This record gives sequence, structure tokens and C-alpha cells, in this order.
Amino acid sequence: MPASGQQIVTVSRRGADRIRAGHVWVYRSDVTEAEQVPPGALVTVQEAGGRAGPPHPRTLGSAFYSSASEIAIRMISTKPVDNLDRLLRERIRSAIAYRERFVADTNAYRVVFSEGDFLPGLIADRYNDVLSFQVLTQAMDLPETRETFVSELRSAFDPAIMVERVDPRVRKLEQLPEKENEVVFANPARGETPVAPPAELGPAGQRAVPSTQFRMNGVHFLFDPLAGQKTGAFLDQRENYAAAAGYARGEALDVFCYQGGFALHLARVADKVTGVDSSRPALEAADENARLNGHEIEWIEANAFDLLRDYSDAGRHYDTIVLDPPAFAKSRRDAPAALRAYKELNLRALKMLRPGGILVTCSCSYHVSASDLVEAVTSASVDSHRNLRLLENRGPSKDHPSVLGIPETAYLKCLILLAS
Ligand code: SAH
Repeated sequence: MPASGQQIVTVSRRGADRIRAGHVWVYRSDVTEAEQVPPGALVTVQEAGGRAGPPHPRTLGSAFYSSASEIAIRMISTKPVDNLDRLLRERIRSAIAYRERFVADTNAYRVVFSEGDFLPGLIADRYNDVLSFQVLTQAMDLPETRETFVSELRSAFDPAIMVERVDPRVRKLEQLPEKENEVVFANPARGETPVAPPAELGPAGQRAVPSTQFRMNGVHFLFDPLAGQKTGAFLDQRENYAAAAGYARGEALDVFCYQGGFALHLARVADKVTGVDSSRPALEAADENARLNGHEIEWIEANAFDLLRDYSDAGRHYDTIVLDPPAFAKSRRDAPAALRAYKELNLRALKMLRPGGILVTCSCSYHVSASDLVEAVTSASVDSHRNLRLLENRGPSKDHPSVLGIPETAYLKCLILLAS
């Protein structure tokens, strides 16, 4: 039976099978009835009865509905949900308990990873005394839902500031009103740095917000709560930074270095480190991070494809190379072009690696699978006449949990290879 007052969304056999196979999404094309369901509503999901399905409608559980996204249904429970506020608070507490168990050696990590924590549409990161969150669905954008997760996160962490970081593309897809990154609240009584009252914020809520520092694996980073790409830092690579540093040596090149995540870790073991990125603000932040850690690192602003071509043509050599490009394949259609780009980058890198050198090669495109990436790198090794041995086949850090049955939660691949 549906929980009291909830609307029913009916899905096709295919949609129901998907849920029974452990996924939590149903695409709009598999929704057979969702009449007048308001955006973001909590709904009861049923498999249509009759000709196409079982003799009688069968209840599959409770879900968040989106009136705009191609992903119309995101399941939140196989049971009726009578008290959403309580369920969300329990899920947040259990996400925090998971981190207490599996995250070590850092005060910056993902606290809530959307479907990975059975909280579809919500991402929350902790950067020391700053909490940052991002809303990805209509349901998580509803005022009462926001109130619930903001208050639960606030009482768990007592942060100095909490900020909302906006992904404009996602808000558009969900037909949510445009908004800017903003400070949700600032608690002047907390934190090592005094916090500007909201009245002192700049036009778009920018600047005047103090930065903080966080650490991971003993490396220190500056963090500006409202600046930077994505949700601020690439926390999903945290364990891969440490793993890469375990093998790195000699002269190291960190390509697509952003604010220096890999480079700063490599600098502890390598003789010389160079970081490359096309974003000047990212490199400026990287340089401040290097100073904070007492390392001298060379930063180069360049298009990585041009630089790798020029450097490999010029016969330059390295002992360690990291490739961590942005997601080249945003959709399945982009996958073939993305694979060509991965191959090109890896081919150039292999030409420059000295015998015994280490290649750390990553892909964060969900549409490029782990075996696709292996295939692209293999093809690069054949063309460059280099043998590669796999030292480690890695994924994201454990604070970005991958759920079996929801392949979209496993997007980051990181191979550590030894070139001979
Ligand atoms: N390795 C980083 C994350 C990299 S994210 C870390 O661990 O923190 C991808 C980076 O690639 C971004 O910083 C972006 O500015 C940069 N980038 C995107 N296209 C690029 C290009 N063509 N050449 C160089 N850098 C590029």
C-alpha cells in the first residue's frame, strides 16, 4: 500500500526489472503514469498491472520524482516512507558513521555521496571547518528537505560556515531556478578564522568569505569555499594520491594538476615536480599550496595536449607521469572521441617515460569503462613499443562509495603502471 497521502507513479515492466536488479533509477520512458505529480514529490512506485505486467499492480517502494529530468524516479526505499524527515536524518547519520569507520588521515572528505549513500540528489563535503553541499534534484531542492539536511549536517559537524555550491547545468536539467554559490550560514563563534557576517559579502556572495585549510595524507591545502571547480577539490582522488606517491620517483610530471593534488604528494618523494593545467586560477592556488607545504614545484599553464606533443617531440623524459584529465565523455555519444583522447595522452606520456618509470593514468568519465581505459592504454603501449605492468587498478576513495547494482556510482578509474 502507498504511504498515506502519497501519489502513485506507475512504471513499466522494464523499469520495475531495473529496480529489482538493484538500481534506483527509472527513466521517463519507463514511467507509464505520473499524472499531476508535483516536482520533487515523494511518491509510491508501482509496477503497472494487467496486460503488460503482473495481474495486479505491485508496489516497488518509495521514490523521489522529478518532473523534468530524464531520470524520473530515484528510489529511496523498498518500503513505504511515512516520515521523510526521519529517514533523511537517519541516512545522513549513517553516512557519517560510514566515514568514521572508513576514512582516515584527513579532515576533508565527502560526507554524503548521493546514490552512494542512498541519498539521491545530495552531495556534501567537509573541508575541515567548512561544509559544502550541492543539490542535484528537485526533491533535494524543496525547502523542507533543505531544512532537514542542513540542520542534520549542522548539528553533526558544527561547521564555521556552510556553503552551497551550484552546478548550473544540473539545475537547468532539473528546471530549478538559477542561483549562485552562496553562504548558507556562518557561525562566527566557530572556526580558526573570523567569519565575515553575510552583509560584508561581495555582490555574488563572493570573496569576503575566509578560506580555510585542510589536510590529507599529511599534505596541507588551502580551500576557498566559494571558488574553484566542481565542489572545490577532487576528494575522490585522495587515496590515489597516497598510492601514487608510494611508487613515484625521480622527475615527475603531473598533467591536469588543478590545485596540485598529485603534484604536492609526489613532491615528498620525487626529485623534481612539474604540474600542468590550462587554468591559471587553479595554478595560482597550486602555487600557494606548494608554499604552504614548503615545496618548490614548477607550474606550467598550457593545453596539456599541445604540451605533451611538444615535450615528447623534443625528447624530454620523466620517471613519473600522472594523467588526470577532466571527463572527456559527458555522454555515451562522446565515448569514441574520448577514447581517442585517452590514447593520445597515454601515448605521449609513454614516449617520455624512462625505463622503470611509473605511469598513473586516470579517467573520471562514467561512459568510459575500466576495460575501455585499459584498452586505450594497451593500444598506446603497443604503438609506443613499451611494455606495461599493472601495479594497481584503483577506483575512487572510500568516501565516494560505489554501490553494486548502480554502476553510475563507480566512475573514477586510476591505473598505476610500471613501464619497461
Ligand atoms: N588532478 C587534479 C584534478 C584534475 S581535474 C586533482 O587531483 O586535483 C581536470 C583539470 O584539467 C582541471 O584543473 C582543468 O582546469 C584541467 N584541464 C581541462 N582541460 C585541459 C587541457 N586541455 N589542458 C590542460 N588542462 C586542462
